[in-house]
Amino acid sequence: MGPLKTIAIIILVISFLTFVAFFGRLPALRNTPIGALHRVIWLHIPGAMRSMDQRLSQGRLSTWMAKAAHTLWNDRHPLVMIFFILLLSVSEILFIPPAWPLMSISDRAITINLVLLPYIFLYASAVTDPGYITPENHAHQMSLYPYDFTIFHPGQKCHTCHLLKPARSKHCSICKHCIAKLDHHCIFINNCVGYRNQHYFLFLLFFTATLTTYATYLGTCLLSGQIRKEIPAWKIGGEGFTWSQYGNIWAWALQEYTRIGAVTLLCFLTSPLIWGLLGYHIYLIWAGTTTNESMKWSDWAAEMADGYAFKRRLSPDRHKDETIEPVWTRWPCDSEQVVLRTEDGMPPRGPHAIGEGGWERVWKLADVENLYDLGFWDNLTDVLRPRYGFRHREHNSNGQAIRSRPSSSGDVAAVADQ
Ligand SMILES: [Zn+2]
Ligand SMILES: [Zn+2]
Repeated sequence: MGPLKTIAIIILVISFLTFVAFFGRLPALRNTPIGALHRVIWLHIPGAMRSMDQRLSQGRLSTWMAKAAHTLWNDRHPLVMIFFILLLSVSEILFIPPAWPLMSISDRAITINLVLLPYIFLYASAVTDPGYITPENHAHQMSLYPYDFTIFHPGQKCHTCHLLKPARSKHCSICKHCIAKLDHHCIFINNCVGYRNQHYFLFLLFFTATLTTYATYLGTCLLSGQIRKEIPAWKIGGEGFTWSQYGNIWAWALQEYTRIGAVTLLCFLTSPLIWGLLGYHIYLIWAGTTTNESMKWSDWAAEMADGYAFKRRLSPDRHKDETIEPVWTRWPCDSEQVVLRTEDGMPPRGPHAIGEGGWERVWKLADVENLYDLGFWDNLTDVLRPRYGFRHREHNSNGQAIRSRPSSSGDVAAVADQ
């Protein structure tokens, strides 16, 4: 048990430090001990090491370390994914063998299924093409989403790929490709999360969160059962015991059943994080946006608050330059606004400004439309069934949606609502 106990403790420490490294810079945690520890890890320790290295090797070691760190952060490599797989499998090896004899048949069946699912979806997220944009598939990628003339404007080229950037795409400097509907590059799957693998990533989060939550529940029940053998009056909630007795009894159980205890504790600590991450992605889907776009929207919010953002009407019947604007085939609606920022806080001028009518200053995000938000269920469908086309939806002159139904030929025909 000695070495396994050490491994269990190392796992706990590493997970805690990983948590601090990833989440310590969140504004909400800035003034907490976690924020302070984050600064120690990322600022003070590297600073102290640099000044020591300056004295010992005139900075040669730091130059080498900076290069290695640059490679680690900017190149595709499976280091973090291997860490993730090890964390999963070592925890399972620690937990399952001692827990197996104590588990009921149904516990065992659930465990086998839940253990497999994160691996399956990790594999699917990691090996699926997230939506690489190549010269061969560029025309198709351009047809996925229309430009919203707010966060995505037509005619912009990727400087690396030398291709026009389709709406909602972004170049990933780690994958060295433009990716369709890029959400973010995820180091845990060593791949981008984009148009074609976003659903696998969501399932990975969901089943990993379910696994850790189930392990927390199962571990607590099993340990409680073992405590009851020693103390027949024991209940999970600790009724009839003082706080210190309660703490001591759990401490005894954790020591006596270190392997189950350490993994249960680890799962208890990590479950809220994974559910939180899944919740954040569900929120993004609800809002009809992606991690990448949410950053663009928050930049816009700042521009608007400063009074530098303007919008005006964009006619859906306007003449489109098809060399830069795609003929999109899936999305049910077209942008009816153009939103621009100006350097001087004055309305946009010049003959090139697109749109019609006067410019209206916008002060907040609520005043502009998000073209990519069709409502939660349609947004979710777009994520879960990435090849699905939506029925066309048009707007009348008052901006009210006109409901549509497929015509008998399979095309779409607009029918006025009301
Ligand atoms: Zn690119
Ligand atoms: Zn990437």
